[in-house]
Amino acid sequence: MLELLSRLWRMTPEAKASKARPVRHLFAIEKLANGRTHHGYDYRYYCVRCRWMFLVDRHGGVIALDDDNRPLVINEGARRVRTFGYGPCGSSARVTQVNRIH
Ligand SMILES: [Zn+2]
Repeated sequence: MLELLSRLWRMTPEAKASKARPVRHLFAIEKLANGRTHHGYDYRYYCVRCRWMFLVDRHGGVIALDDDNRPLVINEGARRVRTFGYGPCGSSARVTQVNRIH
């Protein structure tokens, strides 16, 4: 399902335009059903542009996941979480741009 969304997104004109400039993530949001909460988080946010995944709890807590749904190691996880609200999306991000925000 998420793979399909990502593939559909890449066929849109906006997807081609977004390669030229940094953009925010474009999230598909999945509410985790009862019993499937992951480390106490309630929602999984999947960016259809860059395929990064985040877990979000109802209090606004955010962690980044790797491709196997495991929390990322501290440094990479923190770098991705900094892009969560305002980008740049990983599909257009360069490390220097992320650093300049902070
Ligand atoms: Zn993204």
